[in-house]
Amino acid sequence: MTNVIYPTTNLKAVEQLVLERGEGVYVFDNQGKQYLEGLAGLWCTSLGYGNQELIDTVSEQLGKLSYSHMFGGKSHQPGIDLADKLAGMVPMDNAKVFFGNSGSDGNDTHIKMLRYYFNAIGKPEKRKIITRERAYHGVTVAAGSLTSLPANLAHFDAPLEALGILRTDHPHYFSGRQGNETEAEFVERITGNLETMIVREGPETIAAFIAEPITGASGVIVPPAGYYEKVQAILNKYDILFWADEVITGFGRTGNDFGCTTMNIEKPDMMTFAKQLSSAYYPISASLIRGDMYEAMIEPSAQVGVFGHGYTYSGHPVACATALKVLEIYERENLFERSAQMGDYLQTKLKQFADHPLVGEVRGRGMIGAVELVANKQTGKAFANGSVGAYAVQRCQEHGLIIRAVAGNSLAVCPPLIISEAQVDELIEKLGMAIDETLDFAK
Ligand code: PLP
Repeated sequence: MTNVIYPTTNLKAVEQLVLERGEGVYVFDNQGKQYLEGLAGLWCTSLGYGNQELIDTVSEQLGKLSYSHMFGGKSHQPGIDLADKLAGMVPMDNAKVFFGNSGSDGNDTHIKMLRYYFNAIGKPEKRKIITRERAYHGVTVAAGSLTSLPANLAHFDAPLEALGILRTDHPHYFSGRQGNETEAEFVERITGNLETMIVREGPETIAAFIAEPITGASGVIVPPAGYYEKVQAILNKYDILFWADEVITGFGRTGNDFGCTTMNIEKPDMMTFAKQLSSAYYPISASLIRGDMYEAMIEPSAQVGVFGHGYTYSGHPVACATALKVLEIYERENLFERSAQMGDYLQTKLKQFADHPLVGEVRGRGMIGAVELVANKQTGKAFANGSVGAYAVQRCQEHGLIIRAVAGNSLAVCPPLIISEAQVDELIEKLGMAIDETLDFAK
């Protein structure tokens, strides 16, 4: 029996694939078999595997200054430069950046900064956070409470009430519509529910609304047109902050710099980044807040003596140098524009599956998409459990394609941004074979 407690794994079915190395968009297992990495690892290896420039950057920084913390006034140039770079890129006012190690701890930091900020401006009661059904925001105790997926909540007894977590509708028209409701009516209804909840709870008790502009783990949900415009209007009316979790959608994934740009989200008050920030060559996250929020936190920190939050690896110099190089490569190679073009190609190819008898919906934007398998194509009825999606993923693996089934039976694709047209064709061909082979199993 293994000694590893595997993350997000059925503990009765561990070690099904042991990987050894990677090159470009491909990974190889310990038997030498090649797989196209159709999910960029966990939505993160945007620049693929074995990028020599990044390997050199990591090793040069390791040689120069392998570690320095950022506590108590200490700093280093890669950290200062990365914060400047990010602040200059994001659609926020005067953004300030806190570094961490993962999307989960980045979101935890935001929860703590929200409290710190509202305490600082004399509104300590403003601390509830609205998340959405099916959301994924990580797995730590606090960020995991913002996650709404049943598997991430079951048996863990998250302190939801203590944290003041509120849940509102997920914006998935295909699975959430009622009767003959149009998309516009759906948006009207769920944003109406949001406003009703805010009024019922008391806007003065609600700090922020968190959303992945386009979701990942909940099935790659692309909200209908007009959704975020309505949500932002309601949040503005009640003085509630918009918090964009861009852990998956940041840096070109959706065919633009940020998911906020793709989804017409104007000036978020907070943004969380991880994953593609370093193309997963080194763990790092960044939690960004508006400049005036940071300014409000300065005086209370001086009174205490410190802003008492920080990780040993906050602003790890190797992580910061790696992220800086990754951002340089995105810019130099025009990867956001390329992602828009290749994304159109990928989405067009994925749409071919829409007519398949097992497929209920094909959706996505840019370089992220999902093919949802359903029990009844006419009604859109979902399968009772995730076994059909799991089978399709297994078939993909047989054919040398790695993807994931998320939120039940949605087959998610999210390849490295460097993927070529021929490699997209390969992905589509293998996915198509796997879906065909799943037909019998699904009966
Ligand atoms: N937020 C989103 C939108 C994510 O997709 C994830 C991870 O998939 C996280 C947060 C958590 O990131 P991490 O796994 O690095 O803690």
